[in-house]
Amino acid sequence: MDLYEFQAKQLFAKHGVKTQSGEVVATAAAAKLAAEKFGGLVVVKAQVKAGGRGKAGGVKLAKDPQEAHDRAADILKLNIKGLQVNKVLITPAEDIAKEFYVSFLLDRSNRSFLAMASVEGGVEIEEVAVNNPDALAKVPISANVGVTKEIAIQIAQAAKFPAEIQDQVVEMLQAMWKVFVAEDATLVEVNPLVQTPAGQIIALDGKVSLDENAGFRHPEHADLVDKDTEDPLEAAAKAKDLNYVKLAGEVGIIGNGAGLVMSTLDVVAYAGEEFGGMKPANFLDIGGGASAEVMANGLGIILSDAAVRSVFVNVFGGITACDAVANGIVQAIELLNQQGKEITVPLVVRLDGNNADAGRKILNDAEIAGIHMAQTMDEGARLVAQLAAGK
Ligand code: GDP
Ligand code: MN
Repeated sequence: MDLYEFQAKQLFAKHGVKTQSGEVVATAAAAKLAAEKFGGLVVVKAQVKAGGRGKAGGVKLAKDPQEAHDRAADILKLNIKGLQVNKVLITPAEDIAKEFYVSFLLDRSNRSFLAMASVEGGVEIEEVAVNNPDALAKVPISANVGVTKEIAIQIAQAAKFPAEIQDQVVEMLQAMWKVFVAEDATLVEVNPLVQTPAGQIIALDGKVSLDENAGFRHPEHADLVDKDTEDPLEAAAKAKDLNYVKLAGEVGIIGNGAGLVMSTLDVVAYAGEEFGGMKPANFLDIGGGASAEVMANGLGIILSDAAVRSVFVNVFGGITACDAVANGIVQAIELLNQQGKEITVPLVVRLDGNNADAGRKILNDAEIAGIHMAQTMDEGARLVAQLAAGK
């Protein structure tokens, strides 16, 4: 889960990363009040989960409360990279002498962690990586050792931070690593890390991604979810512990196993080209178990999606055999009928693998209207795309 800047800065403050937390507001009037409280020059910053807000006009200085009001009004109208700005962060402005870059991230390709640092901060780091790769220091971090003082010094020196700020940078790096470990983050980035004319080192921006797989260790992270911008279907699926992702198309997809579901998305999108560009409406992996209840929950979510015109249930019987899955489908439809949710769109079911024949027989014998059986994944994909197109 990616956090907003103001949320990242709250975690920074909690773990001793020097920053201006400021105040987050949703109206120009509230921005004015916040600016009055801070006094002097403030920054008004769009809170959207995207980089490059400065370039997009989403970060403005304001010399007095009225100007903070006006800038907030402007920024609250912006749409940055497809994201509507609903909140702005007001913080006291810092004078900037120099801008740097520092981050810690999960380095999947090396199955490790990585520190990155550069004295070329403030600009997009991807640009530095391409145009001036020598200016971007990369130091692998061992999970067992972490960021000791020695390693923090190594990072600061690899990036050629000036000697006079080294102590502060080392302290900053160790505090950022504390955020990374204590909050189970996969990214903790500060760009820019600034040096003020008085020589202070401060995190002026903050980007944090949290590892949702560690969510069970952090019940407090649930408060960081932005309910306003969360997709309602995704929220409902999450409440039922389903691995569901909403997509833009018309064909509902259910499968068992993430790999199978991902390839089903590809196959359906490909088959859909022939039928006016029918595409998958979602990703849903019901996993190995596939009990009737999980199947009912999954079908329930997909059928409540108004965009869905047909559903493809693509199951490969492994540990859970196809007859068990078929019984699950039959019971799921009964369960949904009891809840008053009629199946109003056609369902294409492909069962293969363990006990596939027994599974098909169960579904055929159940004689449920609107269920079509497919022998292969390709055949099922073509049929479900055709049904979605109403042909
Ligand atoms: P981003 O563009 O989304 O990365 O947003 P940032 O928070 O990094 O802000 C963009 C730029 O705005 C920074 O690189 C700074 O140059 C400028 N900026 C942000 N806060 C301040 C501030 O307190 N004082 C000054 N002078 N400039 C700021
Ligand atoms: Mn930034």
